[in-house]
Amino acid sequence: MSEEQLVDLRSDTVTRPSEGMYQAMREAPVGDDVYGEDETVNRLEVAAAALLGKQAGLFLSSATQANLAAMLVHNARGEEILLGDCYHIFVSEAGGVSALGGIVMHPLATDDNGGLACEQVLAAIKEDDPHHPITRTLALENTVSGRVQNPAQHRALADAVRAQGLVVHLDGARIMNAAVALDIDACEVAQPFDSVMMCLSKGLGAPVGAVLCGSSEFIRRARRQRKQLGGGMRQSGVLAACGLYALENNVERLAEDHENARQLAAGLGEIDGLPVRQATNMVFIEPEAKDLEPLRQHMLEHRIEIGRQSPRIRLVTHLDIDAAGIDRAINAFHSYFR
Ligand SMILES: *Cc1c(COP(=O)(O)O)cnc(C)c1O
Repeated sequence: MSEEQLVDLRSDTVTRPSEGMYQAMREAPVGDDVYGEDETVNRLEVAAAALLGKQAGLFLSSATQANLAAMLVHNARGEEILLGDCYHIFVSEAGGVSALGGIVMHPLATDDNGGLACEQVLAAIKEDDPHHPITRTLALENTVSGRVQNPAQHRALADAVRAQGLVVHLDGARIMNAAVALDIDACEVAQPFDSVMMCLSKGLGAPVGAVLCGSSEFIRRARRQRKQLGGGMRQSGVLAACGLYALENNVERLAEDHENARQLAAGLGEIDGLPVRQATNMVFIEPEAKDLEPLRQHMLEHRIEIGRQSPRIRLVTHLDIDAAGIDRAINAFHSYFR
């Protein structure tokens, strides 16, 4: 049994570079990207901008750094971002925009699908009054913990707040999962936004990196922010090559991850009394508290790794898990609950 391959369901960040990706790294022409001389980085930035329908792109070391650089461009100290109370920038980026940028975050309650309502967002925009921070940015997310947001609703939100002078950013760490699930071009998902961030090291399977896209002027300023954050990299074409490889080879196949998640949710749905919810490549289960640790141990004995969250455990499918791995996971869950 210990010979079996580990099925790691903790996150879609755990994927390893494929043979083809290593090949792309070895063959990538590189140069000093701080001088703008890395051909492969330049190619990735152009390709990502084209994919998302924006003028320009910027390759950064992580999605967190890309969100931070974008927020530092859009907001001065004492200015404010409106965002969902479960969104990554608010809960999972170590408060970077506030700690490093002096930016205020105003979290808003999200609905069951992870979205925000127009009236709610408009009501949160502060009046021009010396007591208040200046509301500058609306930051949205797609997907939100796997849940696909409707681009028409994002369009309506963006139009409404832009009329009030705000800029609109999309944390699209998993924007390609949203586009594949909706069966539309990614540029339609990105269209309402002034700036869009796409992560390369989630479901797309690159080891490192994210791309930030927007107008040429926005990207010019974001490039300076990246340098200020210590994120200017040199022969980073070896990393950008993985991103290019991922965009060429790993987008369509996200549909397999979604299908595997559906299969997993269907299998787990047969377990009595276990709440199960699935969206794109994520499945959430809520076992009783007493089961959390024993379940994790039992799964590990079957070479299946699941998250440590509580009370709800997140299971994420990705390109290193195939249908056979999903069957093994379902069987191991069933053998625990039997
Ligand atoms: C993972 C994630 C990020 C940050 O990605 P890192 O590569 O870990 O910095 C940002 N936003 C969302 C929605 C994410 O899921």
